[in-house]
Formats: sequence, C-alpha cells, structure tokens
Amino acid sequence: MSARILVVDDVIPNVKILEAKLSVEYYDVITAYNGPDALVLAKEKSPDLILLDVMMPQMDGFEVCRRLKADVETAHIPVVMVTALSEAADRVQGLEAGADDFLTKPVDDVALFARVKSLLRLKMMMDEFRLREATSLDLGVMQPQDDDIDDGVRGRILAVDDNNFSSQQIAGVYEDLYDLTIESDMDEALVLARGSDFDLTVVSLAATGFDPLRFCSRIRTFEETRQLPILTIVDEADTDKLVKGLDLGVNDYVMRPIDKNELIVRTKTQVLRKQYQDRLRHNYHRSMELAVTDGLTGLYNRRYMTNHLATLQRGWDDGNKPISLLIMDIDFFKKVNDTHGHDVGDVVLKDFSARISKSVRGIDLACRYGGEEFVVVMPDTDLAVAMGVAERLRREVGENVFRIPSDNLELEITCSIGVAMQQAGENVEGLIKRADEALYQAKRDGRNRVVSAG
Ligand code: GH3
Ligand code: MG
Ligand code: MG
Repeated sequence: MSARILVVDDVIPNVKILEAKLSVEYYDVITAYNGPDALVLAKEKSPDLILLDVMMPQMDGFEVCRRLKADVETAHIPVVMVTALSEAADRVQGLEAGADDFLTKPVDDVALFARVKSLLRLKMMMDEFRLREATSLDLGVMQPQDDDIDDGVRGRILAVDDNNFSSQQIAGVYEDLYDLTIESDMDEALVLARGSDFDLTVVSLAATGFDPLRFCSRIRTFEETRQLPILTIVDEADTDKLVKGLDLGVNDYVMRPIDKNELIVRTKTQVLRKQYQDRLRHNYHRSMELAVTDGLTGLYNRRYMTNHLATLQRGWDDGNKPISLLIMDIDFFKKVNDTHGHDVGDVVLKDFSARISKSVRGIDLACRYGGEEFVVVMPDTDLAVAMGVAERLRREVGENVFRIPSDNLELEITCSIGVAMQQAGENVEGLIKRADEALYQAKRDGRNRVVSAG
C-alpha cells in the first residue's frame, strides 16, 4: 500500500526515526518540524496520513489537529497523535481535537504499522467512495444520497471472548454506541458472523476455550466474512500472537488493560471503513442494475438480454439443454394510449411487466424488448414447457383486469405470444426471428393466443 505520510515533530531525531521506518516500507514520507509548517504541507501535498507530535513549541499538536479538522481541504486526512505520555487525559484531549488514533513514544514497530495500515485503508476507501459518487453523479446514473454515512450510523459488533469479566468490560465500553453480540463459543461465533451483517468482530487473543487465531483465520477464509474487520484485544505478554494475528489479516488491536477511549477510536475507524465499503459495493450493484434495466418497468433491457443470450448460447454449444424463448406483444396497445393517454399506457406496461415477473421462474430472464414487446428467455426448457409458461402468461393478462386507480379505470388487456425452442446449430438471431414470426402468426390468427414456431 503506497501512500504519502506527513511526519510532524519538533525533535529532529524523532522525525528521522519515523521517516526511516516508514521509508523502508516504501511509504512516501514528508516532514515538518513545527505546527504552522505542518498546516501548510498538509494543504499543499495532501498526504494520506499525518503522524503528529503533541508537545511542540509555538503551536501544540492538539491545536494543529483542530485546525486540520476545521479546514475542508484537510479535514478528511486521518491524524495519529504521537505522544510521550500515555496519559488518558491526553487521549481525551486528542479525541476532542479530532484525532483519529494515538501512538505512544517510543513508537513500537508493530503498533506503528498496524495503525498506519488501518487508517490508510479507511482513507482509501473514503477517497474511492467520494470519487465514485462524483463520477456517478456526473454520469447522472445515481441520485445524490441523503443518508450519508456519519457517526450516527449504529454499527453492529460481534465480540468473541470466553472470559466473562473481559466481555463485560467490552460491553461496558460499547454500551450506547454499538449493537453488541457477545459469543463465547468459536463455532457459534462463526455461524453468527457468516449469517448476519456485522461491521466488526472483536476477538480476545487471551481466550483459552478456543484458539482465537484460528477464529481470525476462519473469518478471513469464508467468502461471507472475508471483508469483516477484526480487532483483537491483546495481553502485553501476547505480542507473538498479535504479530501472527496481524499476518493473518487482523486489522487492529488494543492492549490490556483496556483504555476505553482507545477502544472507542479504533472501533470507530474499523466500523466506518466497513460501512463505506458496503456502501461502495451497494452503489456499484445499483449502477450496474441501472445500466442493464429498463427505467419504466424494472425488467432487464434489450442490450442485457442480447448479452445474456450470447452467454447461454455458449452453454448450448457445449451440449447443454435447449433454450426456449417467448416474445409477447400487447394487443391494440395503441388504442389504450389514444383513448386514455400515455400515462395510463405506462401504468398498463408496468402492471404487465409485474405479471410477467411473478409468473416466470427465477432462472428465466424477463426483459422489455421494445415499446410494448417483452421477451422471456427460458434456459433448460423444451418447447412443451415453454408453451405452458406462455399459456399461463396469456391467461394471467387476459383474465384479470388492469386497474388504473388514478383514473378510476378497469381495462381489459390481451396479448399475443410467439414461442420458439432453439434448434441444433441455430444462432440467437435465428431463434428470435422464429419466435417473432410465430408472434405475427398469433396476431394474424386473431390475437390473444399463443403460437409455437415451426
Ligand atoms: P398490435 O395488436 O398489432 O400489436 O397493435 P398495437 O396497437 O399494440 O401495436 P403498435 O405497434 O401499432 O403500437 C404500439 C404502441 O405502443 C405505439 C407506441 O406509442 C406505444 N408505446 C411504445 N412505448 C411506450 C411507452 O413506453 N409508453 C406508452 N404509454 N406507450 C408506448
Ligand atoms: Mg401491440
Ligand atoms: Mg408492437
């Protein structure tokens, strides 16, 4: 993970040590020796992370942090306060100034890289999120969302600990802040984690009833939990276990005795990142959906259907079961528009689509092929079954009136359907053409009927 880190400290050797450590890991390090310089560099070089000394002449770290967080250009950059004192009071003051995390001098390597990586991951996720949101808005494919992620979103946490005292302590910290589930059995915890949407799992590395590292590795293995952040609670004596855990993909840790504020900030970072990530994925699926569906009816659009058929065609070429396809067209639809107006026509089209969706199987693909023409693609389906589906659809449309509550109307609508099953060696175009010919035969024969292609 290459990223730019700004190191701020008034003591030159302190800067040099951190610079050396971070450079070895290929971070791009920039340095400042006082608060005002740090503020300028933060704006000019937009670093991905700032390591900020607390005790500095002129302007102390708390003040620098407050100013960074008050400026829209720098507010999104994570700040780690580096303090010589491990005083709880310092941490509270840092939090109030808007700091995202703490490190205690002398800075220990495990802690340094765990914090740096964890905050950089959050930063990258947020940058990506903002970028995609902006692109989507530019393209006009997504409405701006007003339910932006903020501190008000209540995260869900799964704590895995077999020690009653320690889990009560965790419960005390999270009370009022998160929805917490505590589990003392590893297998039960895995079932829970895989089955529901947690934002974070907190694992005690001191657990004796199960192997906590094994739990972490399992979480990283299962598809459903691979992205779930893991925060471990570690005894001072357990540094070896912690290093192994970090290798396995543990995202962050807190040392015992648990400092409430520390646990809170680390938890917040992980939960936020998970929530950004979920939103990104959700938005991605949503834009995909918008690109492949028809705006009026919500069915797949013609472009998507054509691609889908091409994929199915390859399966057919490989000797799978036949594809059948039906094309349906509303009878005298123009008259609906002419008599009742285009808006009523739209309502009929939506209702018509809803009836198709509910009448076909999950593997069938329903799409709006044109204005009032619809196609249902049925994989692994022979002609007899496809004819049955078509007949069911025809009756579903013809035997139940279409209600237009806004105009107090009840319309009787019928449709005609052409059905075809793919023949050996036939390509997609050929199949659609035969179904279309059958549809026109149905129209010629008097409409409101199903005809199969010869
Ligand atoms: P037939 O029984 O031969 O199919 O007659 P028809 O009137 O249904 O067929 P025609 O193809 O002549 O007319 C289709 C009409 O569908 C014309 C067009 O304005 C209307 N239409 C196409 N897309 C939409 C739409 O999105 N909304 C509405 N309300 N009407 C649409
Ligand atoms: Mg029509
Ligand atoms: Mg038509």
